[in-house]
Amino acid sequence: MEKETFQKGSYRKTLPLIMTPGPTQVRENVRLARARAVTNPDLDMTYFDVYRETCRRIAAFLKTKNACFVLGGEGMLGLEAACASLIEPEDRVLVVDNGLFGEWFSDFVTLYGGVPVFFKGDRTRDVSVEDLAAFLEKETAENGPFKCATIVHCDTPSGVLNDISRICPLLKKYGILTIVDSVSAMGGEDVRTDDWQIDILIGGSQKAISAPPGLTIAAVSDDAFSAMEKRQKPIASYYANLLIWKNYYETKWFPYTPPISDIYGLDAAVGNILDEGNEPGQGILRRHEKIAAAFRKAVTEAGLSLHLNAGWCSTVTVIDLPQGISSEDLLNTMLEKHNIMIAGSFGYLSGKVIRIGHMGENANIPDVARTLRALALTLEEKGFTPKADPEKVFLENVREN
Ligand SMILES: *Cc1c(COP(=O)(O)O)cnc(C)c1O
Repeated sequence: MEKETFQKGSYRKTLPLIMTPGPTQVRENVRLARARAVTNPDLDMTYFDVYRETCRRIAAFLKTKNACFVLGGEGMLGLEAACASLIEPEDRVLVVDNGLFGEWFSDFVTLYGGVPVFFKGDRTRDVSVEDLAAFLEKETAENGPFKCATIVHCDTPSGVLNDISRICPLLKKYGILTIVDSVSAMGGEDVRTDDWQIDILIGGSQKAISAPPGLTIAAVSDDAFSAMEKRQKPIASYYANLLIWKNYYETKWFPYTPPISDIYGLDAAVGNILDEGNEPGQGILRRHEKIAAAFRKAVTEAGLSLHLNAGWCSTVTVIDLPQGISSEDLLNTMLEKHNIMIAGSFGYLSGKVIRIGHMGENANIPDVARTLRALALTLEEKGFTPKADPEKVFLENVREN
């Protein structure tokens, strides 16, 4: 067995302190839940109730009456399943793109025969809902309606948070079904699925939810199911077919054997989310907001630049690298000298920024403070002198606000 030396705020001898924007730290009760005795989840009829109960708890924190499912596969499976299940050949699909995940969604759209039409937003801030409204007005008048749209809640490579509370209702007015990738936001940012009229909402286990990687969460509206039922052509996938999950409980049949131990772990992680604070599921949002705001203040007062001009997500902060400092070198020093793992980015941001994931279990004061202290020392060593002590600024602000 791996030696466990981890305690909040203490130094790990074996594993690095994980401060990446997913996968995140996993609390002990979640890891232990995965060790529970297992049954045969296909044949033990009582397991259908256990699974449904986990889905109900997920629905509670996603504020929805829609059907929720836990699928055995990474967040990517959920994104692909949403596209596979809704999109038919020749369907026009609006791809809202102000980041890399936003852009990549179009690959799934084309894979299932859809025709992606991009709305390109400014990549240094959240999508302008006014610009999107103007685009929709013109585009639908000239070229006809859209069947559905893809939107990324938090586009993790840049850390931009899009206002799905306004975007999804706007699209719904045009009769457009919405597919929302909230993999790196869900758990750390509010998601009001029903109020915001989200048709297919996708999450993953390994980001702010802080369970181990491997599971997708999907919340599917009645409108989305009815669009799937009305398809001319059958869904061109089995594993990525959301419709076959619709009546699993009534028929007592899972399309494939659920990864029961992983789901026990996820259930414990969702329990942690619901139990934090007085109002179920709200305490964790407040914690993320507080830590993220103090973190940004610490970074900017230290003289570093945030990558975004607006639309900062509370789950991850992306910082431009000071001139002359290589991201590889900085990440290596953080890991080798300070035993802290943070991340670089990819695509157009590769080598230009660093990312610190203060999401889920990572979002605790001692670990964030320790990360900032190590970052200040590392920057100093590489020739950048911070204008203020970021750890100190963080601690002053996180307690005050
Ligand atoms: C992490 C992430 C995913 C899923 O990616 P995996 O490689 O499966 O972890 C999808 N969308 C966003 C925005 C993400 O941050």
